[in-house]
Amino acid sequence: MNKKDLSQFQEIVSQLLQAEKDEPVVKPIAAEKLFDQLDLSLEKAPLDDESFYQSLKEIVFKTPRTASNKFFNQLFGGRRSKSVLGDLVAVMLNNSMYTYKVAGPMVGVEKVIIKKVCNMIGYGEMADGTIATGGSMSNFTAMVMARDAANANLTTAGVEQKMIVYTSADSHYSIAKNTALIGVGRDQVRFIKTDEYGKMISEELEKQIIKDKTEGLLPFFVNATAGTTVMGAFDDIKAASAISKKHNLWLHVDGAYCGAVIFSEKYKFLVDGLELSDSFSVNAHKMLGTPLTCSIIVCQNKEHLNHSFSNDATYLYQTDGDDYNLGKTSFQCGRRNDALKLWTLWKSVGSDGLEKMVDHQFKLADIAREYIQNNSDYTLYSYGDSVSVCFNYKGIPAPKLCTALYQNAELVVGFGSFNDHEFVRFVTINPDNNKEEIIAFFNTLEAFANKHFEELMEVETTNS
Ligand SMILES: *Cc1c(COP(=O)(O)O)cnc(C)c1O
Repeated sequence: MNKKDLSQFQEIVSQLLQAEKDEPVVKPIAAEKLFDQLDLSLEKAPLDDESFYQSLKEIVFKTPRTASNKFFNQLFGGRRSKSVLGDLVAVMLNNSMYTYKVAGPMVGVEKVIIKKVCNMIGYGEMADGTIATGGSMSNFTAMVMARDAANANLTTAGVEQKMIVYTSADSHYSIAKNTALIGVGRDQVRFIKTDEYGKMISEELEKQIIKDKTEGLLPFFVNATAGTTVMGAFDDIKAASAISKKHNLWLHVDGAYCGAVIFSEKYKFLVDGLELSDSFSVNAHKMLGTPLTCSIIVCQNKEHLNHSFSNDATYLYQTDGDDYNLGKTSFQCGRRNDALKLWTLWKSVGSDGLEKMVDHQFKLADIAREYIQNNSDYTLYSYGDSVSVCFNYKGIPAPKLCTALYQNAELVVGFGSFNDHEFVRFVTINPDNNKEEIIAFFNTLEAFANKHFEELMEVETTNS
C-alpha cells in the first residue's frame, strides 16, 4: 500500500468516525435509484487520483453505518477497536490459511483459538475445528461431517439412502439450505415443533426419529440452536444429546448467534450439556463483535474433519505436517485469515473482557425488557435470558414501523415473527451501547411513531 493511499485511508476513516456520531443513520438510497444516484460505473480509461478518492468517498458516506449507536438490525453491531486493528493487519499480510508455509504464525493464531474454545466447552483431546466464512458455512461443515460419518462409503459412492435431518421450526434457514447442498434434499428436513419459549420440544424430536426409523429412513443429524435467530431461545442440549446418542445421530449445536455465552460464568448454563455434542459453532462476529466474518466450528473428533475435508494435492501441501496445514481440515483452498481479528481482541481484553461484553449485552436486554414492561403502550413477545427483545408499540404493524424508521433515517431495526405474532426484533448486541442508547432507541421510536401514527396505522390498499 503506498503512502498516499494510506493517508487517504486515514482521512476517510477519521471522517467516517465523525459522521457516525453526527449522522448515525444514513438516509437510504432507494434500490431502484442506486445506479442513477451514484456513479458506480467502470470505465475503460483510468481515473486520476483525486477523482478516484472522491468516488470512493462518495460511496463510503452513502453506505449504511453498522457501527453507530442507532443500528440494531441484524445480529452484529459496534466496532471493537483492537479487533479492527487485527483485521486490517490481516489484510496487509494477506496470508492464505491453507498451509504453514504461507501462513506461518497465523496458523498458530487460529489453532490457539480453536484449542481454547474446545477446552472451554469440555471437548476432549481429540477435538479440533476450523474457522469458516460464517455461521451458515459452519453449519454446513458440521452437516457434511455428520453425513460422512453415517456411512463409510458415502464420500465415494454419494448419497444412496434417504437421510433425515432434525432441527427446530425456529432454527436458522441455513440448516434446510445445507440439507439441499449436501445432496440429501430439503424434503428430508424435519422441522420439530417448539414450545412457547421457542425451544425445540424434545418429545416431538424423539417421536419423529422413531417414526422415520420405522419407515426405513436413515436419521443422521440433529441440530440444536443456542440462540434462535428471532427469539434468541436456547434448545435443551442435554435432552437433545440423550436422544441423539440413543438413536446414534450426530448432534450439532448452532451457536452462531449466542454460542458466546460459553465465555460467561453467569450465562453458560444456557448451553448446559454442550460437552456432549459432536460439533459446535459460534460466530465471533455476532456477540463477540469482531468484524464480519469470523465463525468457529469445532468437533469432538478431528478424524471427522479430516475424513470429510482433506484432499491430497502435491502442488499445495509441500512442507510440514497435516496438523499445521489447515487446508486439510477446511472447505476452502485459499482462505482469508479470519482468526487474527479475534486473537487481537481476545489478547487485549482477556477472556474476562469477552465475558464482560457478553454479560453487558444481556444486561442491556434486561434494561430494554424492563422499559417495555413498565410502559403499557408496548407488548412484549420475547423472554428473559435473551439478547433479542421482541415487541410491538401501540399495535403498529412492525414491518411498516421498521421500514419507515429506516427510510426516514431514524433507526435501523428489523422485524420478525413467532407463533403468528409479527413484531419489532430489537437486538442488544452492540457492547459499545449503554443504558442511555437503549432508552434513546425507545424515545426515538416513540416520537416517530406518534408523529406518523395515522399513516403507520393505515391499512395497505395496494394491489400487489
Ligand atoms: C446468524 C445465524 C446463522 C448464520 O450465520 P452467518 O454467519 O450469517 O452465515 C446461523 N445460525 C444462527 C442461529 C444464526 O443466528
